[in-house]
Amino acid sequence: MTAPQVVVVGSYVTDLCFNCAHFPRPGETLAGTSRTGPGGKGSNQAVAAARAGAPTLYVGAIGNDAFGREAQAFYEAEGIPAHWAIKPKQPTGAAAILVNAEGQNQIIVALAANLHLRRDDLPIDAIDGARIVIAQLEADLPATTHALKLGRTAGALTVLNPAPLRPDFQPAMLKHVDILIPNETEFVELINRLGHQPGQKPLTAKALLKLAPAKLHALCGTLGVPVVIVTLGQRGCFISRADGYLEIPAFTVDAVDTTGAGDAFVGGFAAGLLEHEGDLAAAARHGCAVAALSVTKPGTAPSMPTRTAVSRFLKKHPA
Ligand code: AMP
Repeated sequence: MTAPQVVVVGSYVTDLCFNCAHFPRPGETLAGTSRTGPGGKGSNQAVAAARAGAPTLYVGAIGNDAFGREAQAFYEAEGIPAHWAIKPKQPTGAAAILVNAEGQNQIIVALAANLHLRRDDLPIDAIDGARIVIAQLEADLPATTHALKLGRTAGALTVLNPAPLRPDFQPAMLKHVDILIPNETEFVELINRLGHQPGQKPLTAKALLKLAPAKLHALCGTLGVPVVIVTLGQRGCFISRADGYLEIPAFTVDAVDTTGAGDAFVGGFAAGLLEHEGDLAAAARHGCAVAALSVTKPGTAPSMPTRTAVSRFLKKHPA
């Protein structure tokens, strides 16, 4: 096995997706169609990075149950190395995703085993040898923080996708982060929680869109992380770091399902960082390409493109 250059520590969740004409009312039973698939932000990001060509190790916690065994079988079939912490007393994470005829969704996620990932479960040697360590906020937060800390100490670049921004998120975690990748909602919430001055009106997503680049750059600076990349859906992303601010447009594609676009971006960005030797702008463009391809297919992990598909797409859309 090639030594992993990217280690992703985070959640695995079995997605149970149901399509229905309308959302059920209390007490109502509806007929619908369903599909199940591998999901969870951590796992989606690992699959995105690995398929995009980065030697990747996924680290996550599952139960000793059928969903957990499906997770392991999926990784074996994909040929992606995984380090599983098996939690016999916990079920594997699962999400019930309802999608109505208008394409709106309602989701309940039970993170279960993911919240029982522990520091001792982390593969120290793999993290020590990694060039990039990626985490999100769906798994146990102390273990996630520890993974970032270990990565930083070992000289890896640490990347945090602060999703979902849980109420128990502690800003101290950001001390261990080199590159923070929130979406616009998470960015607004982070600014309101951390970078906000008393007496100031809270920032809204609508107000964010109207801000001048210099103001956005200044707001990013208040978070105390060397690099902040905010993803903006079909508008692409912006990068803010000490020496400047840069916007990267998204690619125009026919989107059929944008769930998991943020995860595709993070995984694609990591693969891009390796491919472009740390060039942030090129890596973010790579992330946008991986995300654009992923939104043209349904599902999350199964919609992540291969390295060949990404190179072909980028050849067709030169910078
Ligand atoms: P988001 O999590 O919605 O901010 O999306 C993450 C990334 O996915 C964005 O930075 C875009 O590069 C890409 N993306 C999301 N939605 C679309 C879309 N409809 N078309 C093309 N790219 C998209």
